[in-house]
Amino acid sequence: MANLKSVIIPPTMLRELVLKLWKRSRELKNEEEIVTKSDPYMQPGRVNENAEFTDDTVEDIEKTIQQARLNIIQAARLEIRKALAKVRIGTYGICETCKSPIDLSRLKAFPQATKCLDCSRKAEDE
Ligand SMILES: [Zn+2]
Repeated sequence: MANLKSVIIPPTMLRELVLKLWKRSRELKNEEEIVTKSDPYMQPGRVNENAEFTDDTVEDIEKTIQQARLNIIQAARLEIRKALAKVRIGTYGICETCKSPIDLSRLKAFPQATKCLDCSRKAEDE
């Protein structure tokens, strides 16, 4: 079977995309560390058990926001890991839903894409 990735993506461009993925992956790792450290429940000056109800509520809201940010970062890191794994096994740039090649312009803008634009839109609609 032909090596699909070399057919679809010129090697220099693939290299560029992989470098972008690594860079983004490092950025996300840093972001994750920063957000993890900003845990409102772990702050030295955090409100104690006798705190006013409103203080606790604010803290809970902050915790919810922090958790939501972490979820987004972790989902993004997972996407990048998936994309890099696809590079290794030679299926990078192929839509995982319809198996068509993903547009190079889409990969340039969004190197972690694992679906073509059509399939990604359909998945979002669901
Ligand atoms: Zn597709």
